[in-house]
Amino acid sequence: MFIDSHCHIEEDVAEKYVDNAINNNVKIMINAATDLKTSIEALELSRKYPSVFTCIGVHPEEVKEFDFDMKPFRDMISNNKVVAIGEIGLDYYYEKDTRDLQIKVFREFLSLAQEFNLPVVVHSRNATDDTLRILKEYKVKGVIHCFSGSIETAREYIKLGFVLGIGGVVTFKNSKLIDVLKEIPLEYIILETDSPYLSPEPLRGSVNESKNIALIANFLSEQLNINIDEIREKTTSNVFRIFDKISWFWYNCSSGRIRKQWENISLKSGLLLQDYF
Ligand SMILES: [Zn+2]
Repeated sequence: MFIDSHCHIEEDVAEKYVDNAINNNVKIMINAATDLKTSIEALELSRKYPSVFTCIGVHPEEVKEFDFDMKPFRDMISNNKVVAIGEIGLDYYYEKDTRDLQIKVFREFLSLAQEFNLPVVVHSRNATDDTLRILKEYKVKGVIHCFSGSIETAREYIKLGFVLGIGGVVTFKNSKLIDVLKEIPLEYIILETDSPYLSPEPLRGSVNESKNIALIANFLSEQLNINIDEIREKTTSNVFRIFDKISWFWYNCSSGRIRKQWENISLKSGLLLQDYF
């Protein structure tokens, strides 16, 4: 089984989207929110689909709209399907004028993650120094989503307890990311699509979906000279290591304890949980 550790699922296509993913052996998806509204929607979606988990937070591009009311986020955390805080972080590429505000919001959500012992899903673009400096002040682990930095940067993040989210970008012809990954143990890599963006080759430019994870995995397998089974198993178990609530869910469901409860969530087309995993 593959896991898509970072995607954005649009509600009106969700049923087909999740179906396509499951049929392509992508049986867990982490749906990333970008503000309060999408956090609420993502949680709602994850209630409907057993395979979909959610993270909640405010993306650096959305900080201007944020009113610093943390209560609705705090209230959502107790839900089993909320498995991380994200995506949060710093984006100095698109959003140059809001740096101070971005840092303030980032810190707010890092504190929340620390308080509830949840992993964080970090978006960092043209902001490596500040991201590293700030992360060092908190006791949190998580994923650097859509990682695209140097070997040195990768090692710094790993030292802090982070793994690298690797998606379609690695397959792009002008990307040097694969050279960095050759120096990084597979234990620190997880797969993501960031759908609907960043479709991997040869689908670049089209609408991305979680079902395309295997294209990224196959590329890594060829380039890193590692068997595809090992890529799949390691990247999946890396997700379980970072996202405690997913591994808790997985363990309990495969051992049958809450399987019944999960099956009762209106599963479409009569699929039982064992068909999912
Ligand atoms: Zn994203």
